[in-house]
Amino acid sequence: MATDIGSLQLPLSTRLLIDGEEGPATGGEEFYRENPADNRQVATAAAKGSAEDARAAIDAARRAFDSNTQNWIYNYKLREQVLYQTAQLIREHAPRLAEVVSLEVGMPIRQAIPHVAAAADIFEFYAGLAGKLYGESFTLPTGSMINLVKEPIGVIGMITPWNFPLTQTARKVAPALAVGCTLVIKPASYTPAATYELVKLMHQTALPNGVVNLVSGPGTVVGAEIVTSRKVDKISFTGESGTGKDIAVQAARDIKRISLELGGKAPYVVFDDADMEGASRAAVFGMFRNAGQACGATTRLLVQESVHDEFLAKVVHLSQNIKVGNPADESTDMGPLISASQEQVVQEYIKFGLDAGYDMVTGGHKLQGGLYDNGYYLEPTIFDGVDNSSRLAQEEIFGPVVVVTTFKDEEEAIHLANDVEFGLVAGVWSADYPRAMRVARRIQAGTVWIWDNYAQPVEGIWGGYKQSGIGRELGYYGLDDFQEVKQIFTDGTGLTMKPAYSQVISE
Ligand code: NAD
Repeated sequence: MATDIGSLQLPLSTRLLIDGEEGPATGGEEFYRENPADNRQVATAAAKGSAEDARAAIDAARRAFDSNTQNWIYNYKLREQVLYQTAQLIREHAPRLAEVVSLEVGMPIRQAIPHVAAAADIFEFYAGLAGKLYGESFTLPTGSMINLVKEPIGVIGMITPWNFPLTQTARKVAPALAVGCTLVIKPASYTPAATYELVKLMHQTALPNGVVNLVSGPGTVVGAEIVTSRKVDKISFTGESGTGKDIAVQAARDIKRISLELGGKAPYVVFDDADMEGASRAAVFGMFRNAGQACGATTRLLVQESVHDEFLAKVVHLSQNIKVGNPADESTDMGPLISASQEQVVQEYIKFGLDAGYDMVTGGHKLQGGLYDNGYYLEPTIFDGVDNSSRLAQEEIFGPVVVVTTFKDEEEAIHLANDVEFGLVAGVWSADYPRAMRVARRIQAGTVWIWDNYAQPVEGIWGGYKQSGIGRELGYYGLDDFQEVKQIFTDGTGLTMKPAYSQVISE
């Protein structure tokens, strides 16, 4: 049934983009993405790519790289142009892209708009770097020269998640193109249209055919083909830690390069001298942005005993004011969860918390009546007095459920913050800057925010310690994920019989 949402006519439709050509999947198969805010509607009818389609896309990317199509590897001006044009096109089409993201993810439109802007910023940032990639050289006492050149790794398989579909894709695509790689992208099956619309815009730029290819379809078919193909030089994956581990095992068979952006269980440490207003607002922003479906979501509030009541009262108050509703509505603060199965997972964690006797200080219910009956709407939920060894404090829930644990002193705060298998991000609040800095240094996480939460400037980095991943996205470091370093050694002596040769040659 055709429906309209905002300016979108549903269902959206996506196709495959291989070697510059758009087309259906072989066999014409499709899969359907429901609207998580109203599951009576089909949001997207997407091309269901097969292993054969994945192979065609890999072959196109391989040909483009190996033939150095249009001098892609060395013509940084072309790469720069493609990236700038992409940033511009994203900005021109921002209202539509935000609606598509909001629709497929269930992300409130007020969050989808800056999400789109951030994707444009990422392309622009890497456009600026494409022409500034210098190597190094060194002259030996003999006059011989070492040149260290950075080269694109080659064909990159990019496998992306659904929760922030444009920025997750942009963080991989923009630096990989900036350095001259070619790509095959496999988007998450919950968000095929968001990625498709981005890649389609890229095809309006000066992008040579075959450099960026998109194949939607099941992870176990399309994703698996990309991971196991010997024609793919590297996998850049963002998703669950479990999927990431499986991919790492597969990739290891061919010593395929990998970078992994995986799950998190972010601690947020609040000391007794913290600015309670700032700390509570920043906490709630990190806790319930995108309904807590964020790798960097604030999930564990670690609060010093003496300010527990004051801080928790503020956080609960802010949480209870969150308006859960239709993501297309500008007044909505929190939308639905991504799917029925994710809602069930989160509800099971809530039941576990109640059965374990933890104090559920707010939320915990599925919302009912009207639109709520056709989507996956849960209340923002907080459990107090949770032991850090509990499943609630250790496992990634990926929903609007947060736990509160108290600590006595700095050492205990650091211990609790680090006592999980993840290490993606963390927050620290203390008016005592040396203390905040000491704690930030000792928390094992790729990003630690002091006096803020969930800031992700493109100039910085993103990536995890421990089981949260391998590699870093964003910033200058984001380029390293897509480059090899090569040494070119050039003789400067002019000798045809060098002293070293006498180890083998006696004349
Ligand atoms: P997921 O692991 O289920 O899926 C991610 C991608 O992998 C999808 O495109 C999926 O189709 C594909 N896939 C699934 N099985 C595969 C297989 N066997 N071989 C190859 N590909 C396969 O994750 P998700 O549910 O889409 O995303 C949520 C997860 O992502 C959370 O754990 C979250 O923490 C994590 N995440 C991490 C970051 C980060 O930067 N660290 C960012 C966003 C999300």
